[in-house]
Amino acid sequence: TPESCESGGSRIHVFVRLRPMAKKEKETGSRNCVKIVNRKDVYLTEFASETDYLRLKRLRGRHFCFDAAFSDSTTQQEVYATTTAELVEGVLQGRNGSVFCYGATGAGKTYTMLGTVENPGVMVLAIKDLFSKIRQRSYDGNHLVHLSYLEVYNETVRDLLSPGRPLVLREDKQGIVAAGLTQYRAYSTDEVMSLLQQGNQNRTTEPTRANETSSRSHAILQVVAEFRVIQSGNIVNRVGKLSLIDLAGSERALATDQRSQRSIEGANINRSLLALSSCINALVEGKKHIPYRNSKLTQLLKDSLGGPCNTVMIANISPCNLSFGETQNTLHWADRAKEI
Ligand code: ADP
Ligand code: MG
Repeated sequence: TPESCESGGSRIHVFVRLRPMAKKEKETGSRNCVKIVNRKDVYLTEFASETDYLRLKRLRGRHFCFDAAFSDSTTQQEVYATTTAELVEGVLQGRNGSVFCYGATGAGKTYTMLGTVENPGVMVLAIKDLFSKIRQRSYDGNHLVHLSYLEVYNETVRDLLSPGRPLVLREDKQGIVAAGLTQYRAYSTDEVMSLLQQGNQNRTTEPTRANETSSRSHAILQVVAEFRVIQSGNIVNRVGKLSLIDLAGSERALATDQRSQRSIEGANINRSLLALSSCINALVEGKKHIPYRNSKLTQLLKDSLGGPCNTVMIANISPCNLSFGETQNTLHWADRAKEI
């Protein structure tokens, strides 16, 4: 319905990004099952040859509408500008913000967040934008930009910039912190891409697939920016934090793995994703009790979800008909997130 397309004031902004069909998928004769119209309407159809917009519109329950929907030719810069640039502006005003990529394994979450050297993603573009804007606005030319990059895997927290033993979460005056987590001071954008790529390589891999990041791993980049401005004649300190989260694969772990250890891991992922959903729900409904304690992920994101904070969801989907079920699940989840 058109009503559901209107953007409200403080609600979560939800975007969808369709990745291109992979060469291999094309070669094996996969069909396209997603269509994006008007930069915000997403049609999911099993009829690959369907091109008639009016007929597509009649396919009930298969039409979704978001703040924006990005087709497979959308550039990284465009995705950044539409989804995250406003949050970076908020961080410069001292408000925390967070961006989540949600979707099945292979749907394009890591491409969207980290990207490649040629096509850097939201994480790198956000830091680049942050640096250039801070330089313009800092009163005295001094600023601090700190990065920390961590993983939640199987309800265990690890430092991706300095891999080692699991980190313990502690509650202190600032909130919940991972004790001993590296706070990397960044001086320029140039160093950030390789730093993050390195960190991404430190994510937990599947025992059976040594070079592939586990689909059960959540990666969280936190960027803290601090600088001084003149406000009403006074020098004031501005601090803002941006959290960029490459969530674990949203597919059901049970569909592929049934062995004991694997299903425990799967359960934990579902727990983290579930906990995230219920926290967001509770926050938007204005509940007094927000169940942050239910998972490591939500504990870590406590100060980025509550309070004066902006939240963005990017749901990543594949165009391939073989992923129809996963795509449908992702779109339904994103659709719910939009309502809250
Ligand atoms: P996920 O992190 O969700 O498992 P990836 O980001 O690793 O998925 O994407 C799967 C594959 O598709 C990768 O090879 C990636 O480079 C490619 N890919 C994903 N999104 C895009 C895009 N928008 N444009 C080009 N290639 C993409
Ligand atoms: Mg990934």
